[in-house]
Amino acid sequence: MTDKASTRENLEALDREDCLAAFRYRFDLPNDTIYLDGNSLGAMPRSTPARIDWVVRQEWRNDLNASWWKHNWLDLPRRIGDKIARILGADEGEVIVSDSTSLNLFKLLVGALQLMAGRGTILSDSSNFPGDLYVAQSAARAQNRKLRIVAPARLVDELDEDVAVVMFSQVDFRTGRLVELRPVAEQAHAVGALVLCDLSHSAGVMPLALGHDGIDLAVGCGYKFLNGGPGAPAFMYVANRLLHSIENPIWGWLGHAETFAFEAEYRPDSSIARFLVGCPPILSLIALEEGIDLLLEADLHAVRRKSVALTSRFIDLLRQEWGDDGPEILSPLDGRRRGSQVAIRHPLASRIVRALSENGVIAEFRAPDIIRFGFAPLYVCYADIWDSSQILKRVTHQVDADRRVAPATAKV
Ligand SMILES: *Cc1c(COP(=O)(O)O)cnc(C)c1O
Repeated sequence: MTDKASTRENLEALDREDCLAAFRYRFDLPNDTIYLDGNSLGAMPRSTPARIDWVVRQEWRNDLNASWWKHNWLDLPRRIGDKIARILGADEGEVIVSDSTSLNLFKLLVGALQLMAGRGTILSDSSNFPGDLYVAQSAARAQNRKLRIVAPARLVDELDEDVAVVMFSQVDFRTGRLVELRPVAEQAHAVGALVLCDLSHSAGVMPLALGHDGIDLAVGCGYKFLNGGPGAPAFMYVANRLLHSIENPIWGWLGHAETFAFEAEYRPDSSIARFLVGCPPILSLIALEEGIDLLLEADLHAVRRKSVALTSRFIDLLRQEWGDDGPEILSPLDGRRRGSQVAIRHPLASRIVRALSENGVIAEFRAPDIIRFGFAPLYVCYADIWDSSQILKRVTHQVDADRRVAPATAKV
């Protein structure tokens, strides 16, 4: 919580002092739009179109198939992985870019279950992204194990010696609740279980220290706060200590120790490259690299400070401007326990999100009654917090008023 009442003037003053303010101009955002959905699809870095254009017109057109070597296309999954490692607090060689988050999750879960042969359970919690739970269910089924889903607050208490791997999202995609990684890793290791963390809503908006925190395995998304573009490939992390033992259950030619020997038998690469499967999407990797390079220019501690300040100011404004009949806030009120988003609940959430968008504020509806506002600190400014909260108040009152008159007019 912040102490002083917010006005547009003092929020503008924060923008003038903001050491990250210049990053906003490195993104190409539509005019008259406040984009609070960067946790779903990150904004476009200004440099991305020209870089893709170059790769298409120069490398692809002129050098054709030789580009794989001449322009190091084959190295991209690893090269970008090593850059992402810096964002995650991981070592070189522990991160690779490939496929989607869901597919990487499947590879790692099955790999973990195969490694932990005597144990029967994947443990997760009910607030986890449903897609992650589906994948876990199918991984459990493929390996003849079971998925146990518990209440979020019980996750650590439910750990026991039958748990092969505990899997959770660092930031809850609905509420923005932020999980502290290290205590979960310590408790899991105390019963001999592995820890797999989904970083889709945390990578790029806060400093991470996967190595220090003892995380074994992780996955995350390239198109959210990493600004890699629609459908950007995802990343995966395997702690060095597991790299000699964990296997990729999908034996693809690109994960082979001698990719171009085309041997009859599969032999896994000794590095994290064994988690590659097939031909990488070069244009998407190039777009992702632009997003990552831009992010690497920013101090992630400053990004986190601004993220907490933006979400705290937004929550303060909802209370300050609405008083007691404001919307229900689902996100943790303590900034230390919150990712870079604020979720509120309203029975007419979907109509409000539509009205917001007609008024230039892009937020996201999550069924049945949640509105999610994501704050990407590199391109959302403090004045946006004022403007969006004012527009939210106005359209909510309008939608509420329309609802009250709607039944009467319907009868006429
Ligand atoms: C966005 C998101 C994903 C995305 O998965 P894809 O397979 O890349 O579509 C997965 N998990 C979580 C927690 C997410 O927020």
